[in-house]
Amino acid sequence: MNEVISQLISLQALDLELDAIDNQIAEQEEGLAQRRAASVERQMGIEKLESRIEELEKERRTLELEMTEEQSHVKNRQSKMMQVQTGREQTALLKEIEDAKGNVKDKEEKIVEIMAEVETLTARITEERNLLKGEEEGLTEEEGAVKKAVAAINRSRKSQASAREKEAEMLAANLFSKYTLLRERRNGLAVANVLQGVCQGCFMSIPPQKFNMLLRGDQFLDCPACQRIIYHQSVEEQE
Ligand SMILES: [Zn+2]
Repeated sequence: MNEVISQLISLQALDLELDAIDNQIAEQEEGLAQRRAASVERQMGIEKLESRIEELEKERRTLELEMTEEQSHVKNRQSKMMQVQTGREQTALLKEIEDAKGNVKDKEEKIVEIMAEVETLTARITEERNLLKGEEEGLTEEEGAVKKAVAAINRSRKSQASAREKEAEMLAANLFSKYTLLRERRNGLAVANVLQGVCQGCFMSIPPQKFNMLLRGDQFLDCPACQRIIYHQSVEEQE
């Protein structure tokens, strides 16, 4: 095989390993970011429950005020009863008193309902806060673990990267830029093997004439379908 092709193949092998390392780092950080987002969401949920409680409490205070007013209205009407003379006036006052008492009862019921809802919400907040606390503790631990893991990955990445630099320096500048461009555009794979006439980069067949040229191994050839630099190495040779 052409020596330059061999250099390209080993450069690509190193680059693919580096890609895998970078993916590992990204995955670790992605997992952590997702857990952080979930924790923020729970926090927001708690705040929502808290503002719902505030609303309910406000409603309850209004109802209590209104209830006090109705009660004093009842008292006021009851003392007025002593002064009225006619039956008609009495009937009217009695009706007013009954209505006001009914209003007081309605408001009382509403207040009881609100108190029950506030109790339920408060219990949920306590539960959510406990969950959040557990999550945040886990997250702090996880952050430490991810930091360590990423540091370890980065240490091995360094030696890998310097080996890669050495390989890259051996290539002619124009070939290196072609390789870099292909890697960017072809999902990290610039150089592809051709097995039984099929490009292993895009899995399209190479025309037989081109494949024969490739087998002679003295020329630089591109895959007509994906433009990757192609070479031929049989399965046995790879092993
Ligand atoms: Zn191809």
